[in-house]
Amino acid sequence: MHRQNYQDILAQVQTPTRYAGNEINTVKKTLDQVDLTFGLVFPDLYEIGTSHFGIQILYSILNNQENIAAERFFTPAQDMEQLMTDKGIPCLSMESQRELSAFDIIGISLLYELNFTNILTLLSLSKIPFYTDQRDDNFPLIIGGGPCAFNPEPLADFFDAFVIGDGEEAILQIANQVIEFKKNGDGKKKTLLRQLSTIEGVYIPSFFTPHWDDNGIQTLTPLYDDYTSVKRAFLPALTMNTFPMDPIVPYAKPVHDRLRLEIARGCSRGCRFCQAGMIYRPVRERSVEDLLKIAKFSLKSTGYSEMSLLSLSTGDYSNLAPLMQQLLAMNQGQCNSISLPSIRAERLTPELMELIKTVRKTGFTIAPEAGTQRLRDIINKNLTEESISATVKNALELGWKNIKLYFMMGLPFEEMEDIEGICRLSTQLAVAYAKGKKGITVSVACFIPKAHTPFQRHSQMTLEQTQEKLQYFKDNLRHKQINLKWQDPKMSLLEGVFARGDRRLGPLLVAAFENGCRLDGWTDKFRFDLWEKAFEDTGIDPLFYTSRTRSDDEALPWDHIDSGVTDAFLKREFQKATEQAATLDCRDHECSGCGVCDFKKIQPVLHEVNAFPTTPPPAALPTLLPDDAFSKFDVLFSKLDRARFFGHLELATIVERAIKRAGLVVKYSKGFNPIMKISFDNALPLGMESEQETLSIYLETGSRPDKIKEILNAVFPTGLHVIECRHHSKLRQEDTTRSAYEIRFSAPCLDQATIDRFLNLSEFMVEDRSKKGKIRRTDLRQSVQTMTLMGPTTIQMALQQYNTRNIRPTEVLAKYFKIDDTVLQTARIKKLAQG
Ligand code: SF4
Repeated sequence: MHRQNYQDILAQVQTPTRYAGNEINTVKKTLDQVDLTFGLVFPDLYEIGTSHFGIQILYSILNNQENIAAERFFTPAQDMEQLMTDKGIPCLSMESQRELSAFDIIGISLLYELNFTNILTLLSLSKIPFYTDQRDDNFPLIIGGGPCAFNPEPLADFFDAFVIGDGEEAILQIANQVIEFKKNGDGKKKTLLRQLSTIEGVYIPSFFTPHWDDNGIQTLTPLYDDYTSVKRAFLPALTMNTFPMDPIVPYAKPVHDRLRLEIARGCSRGCRFCQAGMIYRPVRERSVEDLLKIAKFSLKSTGYSEMSLLSLSTGDYSNLAPLMQQLLAMNQGQCNSISLPSIRAERLTPELMELIKTVRKTGFTIAPEAGTQRLRDIINKNLTEESISATVKNALELGWKNIKLYFMMGLPFEEMEDIEGICRLSTQLAVAYAKGKKGITVSVACFIPKAHTPFQRHSQMTLEQTQEKLQYFKDNLRHKQINLKWQDPKMSLLEGVFARGDRRLGPLLVAAFENGCRLDGWTDKFRFDLWEKAFEDTGIDPLFYTSRTRSDDEALPWDHIDSGVTDAFLKREFQKATEQAATLDCRDHECSGCGVCDFKKIQPVLHEVNAFPTTPPPAALPTLLPDDAFSKFDVLFSKLDRARFFGHLELATIVERAIKRAGLVVKYSKGFNPIMKISFDNALPLGMESEQETLSIYLETGSRPDKIKEILNAVFPTGLHVIECRHHSKLRQEDTTRSAYEIRFSAPCLDQATIDRFLNLSEFMVEDRSKKGKIRRTDLRQSVQTMTLMGPTTIQMALQQYNTRNIRPTEVLAKYFKIDDTVLQTARIKKLAQG
């Protein structure tokens, strides 16, 4: 029942492909035949969640187990949430449309503090009580993981468990423990949690009781003597076993729409504000050999045209040049590209510069973080002004059009001269290098102290201070080649509250959710007024969490979470910050004693430089077959069922990737960014099905049409099906001026007499404005050739163009028959034939 309603409401929401599922490489198992069902939740919109590499890793690891089925959930946008609430539809999985509450385990990725209300949206829609003590033993086990789990306390009352650190091994250990418990356990969640607490990296918040002293400082009393702190889970090395070789290819355009190759994890540069630099240590590189095997397999299984090399600092990868050479060599003739987000000047070898000239340029980011050398030394950002300047110069000369400079305001020990320094440095770089179409984006964010960093005890700026500094930037960064961007200071304030919050924030989160806070990470959705009300209602002072410096002996809410980096190291680093003393990267220098490595199981994994044989750099453009090696083919295909939700641009990308997966040799346009030569006869409106669409494509002369049809059908997603493939012939061109449609309503809304009255008219003129704003007059009666009632809820119509304008059946139904928008949105409209 839910499934049917769900399908119906997709036609009424923006971007229905966010919810349609069935993407390439999704895994569908019979949920009743596995030992464990695992709901993987990313608490943000689909386009953000599907860009997250971590969820792809877990999905792949879990589904590689025959007896486990993992399915995905994302937070619905507000239009969808409203419809789901109105119709009583719970959150349903992307794969089987199974309810979230029916899964054995719900695993939620915690990447960003402003996603926290999105978790409550999902639980609320699924009728799962928020607080653990309100959920009995029958509710799913709710587990969180990701960087925000390193201070889990604000969410402690909602989660049964957290995984701290690398999830690859822990997730399977948890899954197997739960399977065993389902078979032989006593059915009591507390018993299960006690067993799970023995797994490395698993934190059970209910096994710690909070207390607050007179100053409002939280301490925790452990319930068990043998479980007083939780050590982070470590993955000693990145292997092929845990890599998602055939990642899901999303439909609705994700923020990162490309193949992501995680080349390394961890960064040991030691920036003193950076949480990721502390909690993902040590550096573990993947070998070039593994990455090439992965890239070859994954490009084939996804059909992606672009790859990005994923790591906290891509330019530090030991074998970046050989890796890029091999990847580019592998892509000859395929028109694939690699995107590089940034490279520091000192890593730019002549060899690498030659290679970079050949790759596609997306944004280039360089993060000086601070405007003066003094402050960069304090934060241990080992970048000199000369090196920043050289990097910007190189990047613009190598072909990047826009450079993004990333700064922070409010860093510890910041003076006014540091703020002025940001304006001075940015303007200097713009004057020197940004000419013509080349520009510099200066992005300024508010420093937010994070747990497990040397600055974890430092205060955060107040809203007023942030706004004052922001105004200074607006007044002083006025060079015409500079584009200033900033993060909303109110969002930073809220992020700061939760980043170092304690268990008292649980009720605040619930109050904010109940006030209507949704998708707080989206500037256009963020409602600080509703948050202010929630602070007021719960009596919580945000400044207690943000604007207070913690003394060295004050207990921190995350004291029981052991990230591996010792407290002594963090304090030593803070002291060195006050002395502007550098701590060098243990990648190139000696170990600085952060405490993470035991040098037996855990240690940096770095590969010997140039260990992999290199080939000469490839030519700047892929080697393509000459134009006369190709012929044009017409492919007739149907677009039915859930494929009706593919928008026209989405369809073009879906077909292009299918052609790449099929391994067909296709003609590309000339130029630096070659485009596949493919064209569609018609742009079908979103939501409309079709029995017959046509696309044309240039393939190798001599390709057999029947074979093309077979190959494409093997790789097309559900809902798209090739009916016929044939050599293109002008004589056989379809008549695109006439089409026949079938419309099925969910309830009767037309009768034959009304239809006949319309058909008996000599004309029915309507007026509207074209996209260019011109008034146009259309005779809808003349456009309708036939209209027949086929049954109580079904009609068929044949329409022809009016003055070269395609008339849609919905236009006639709305304008003459006055059928309501919502009725038309839920009707199934199918194009039956053309010509
Ligand atoms: S223990 Fe030493 S080698 Fe290991 S990550 Fe820390 S500083 Fe680097």
